[in-house]
Amino acid sequence: MIEKWGEKRARIYGDLLESLSLILLLFLIILLIAVWISGKSCAQIFLNQAGLSSNILWYLILATVTAFFFFCGLGSRYENAVNYYISSRCTNCSRDFAREEFKRPLLKEVSTPEKYEITRTRYWKCKFCGLEDYRTEELDYNNHKGKKGKQKKSTCRVCKREFSMLEYRDPDVKRKSNEETTVRHYKCLNCGFREITIEKVILEEVNIQ
Ligand SMILES: [Zn+2]
Ligand SMILES: [Zn+2]
Repeated sequence: MIEKWGEKRARIYGDLLESLSLILLLFLIILLIAVWISGKSCAQIFLNQAGLSSNILWYLILATVTAFFFFCGLGSRYENAVNYYISSRCTNCSRDFAREEFKRPLLKEVSTPEKYEITRTRYWKCKFCGLEDYRTEELDYNNHKGKKGKQKKSTCRVCKREFSMLEYRDPDVKRKSNEETTVRHYKCLNCGFREITIEKVILEEVNIQ
């Protein structure tokens, strides 16, 4: 749609639709004030379902509300289309609808003693000039550092020393839909062997009555 129209026209059209919905809103307010002023008699007539003039007023209000939402929706759709259009433009050769994702996004989890971050990197390539580009964004899976557990130290699988495996830093906790995953980090105090455990818990909504 925008390819045919050009960005400027689409943007103007989107703005126009938005101002149109504002005008409609104003019109609606004026109508409501008119109803409020003629209040008593109007309501009476409306209840009796007689009085053609007041009915027309109500229909007008209904139509205005409908039109308002219609134009609002249309306006935001134009805005989205314009945004998509701009994001697909190549920064090197300035051609439109040029950028395409050329490989799968890279999901990365970074765990340090202090933080637990999940990022996604998306890779783009211009199909005309071949310019490659990537963007990394942080994802929110309610990921955070948890608290170390209080379980007994276990035996090391490598050096077989008893009670030597220690949880040496706070676990990484994330939540995806209703599944909570906790990754715990252990280290052998004797030989330095490191190990992680992954706990998955399905969180169910419980209705207590
Ligand atoms: Zn290009
Ligand atoms: Zn060990």
